[in-house]
Amino acid sequence: MSYTTEDRKAKSLAAVKVRTCHQCGREVRCNDGAFKVHLLWCKPEVAVARFWKSVDKRGPDECWPWTAQLRWDGYGRFVVMRKPQWAHRYSWELHNGRPIPKGAEVMHSCHNPACVNPKHLSLGTHKENMEEAKRLGRWLESLAIAKGQA
Ligand SMILES: [Zn+2]
Ligand SMILES: [Zn+2]
Repeated sequence: MSYTTEDRKAKSLAAVKVRTCHQCGREVRCNDGAFKVHLLWCKPEVAVARFWKSVDKRGPDECWPWTAQLRWDGYGRFVVMRKPQWAHRYSWELHNGRPIPKGAEVMHSCHNPACVNPKHLSLGTHKENMEEAKRLGRWLESLAIAKGQA
């Protein structure tokens, strides 16, 4: 830890105030700059509009791929209020109007991690998800064998 970062931290802490945001009604503890950023993003409709801007919305039964940032394994990433979220999980919450229960995972019936079509998303446990992935892996393997690639 260098002296300068400590110094900067102390300075920004001094500027921190608690204010009630008139948009979301939450108490926000931050400095002026961060509060401006908060006002930009705290409106739920702003986040939702931003979310759909990154979705390639196709037919109701087709996959809706996430067109913004993807993780190495293909899952879409979406940042709301500086907190990174999984795009498919966010989509499930938007569609169902409630948070994902603790410990639950959002599974894809289409096996397309980048897909955010709520029709293809269902809740499951981590164990179920792992078993599903194994099943899919075996299926892909058998396909490769059939094609003579293995
Ligand atoms: Zn707010
Ligand atoms: Zn899909």
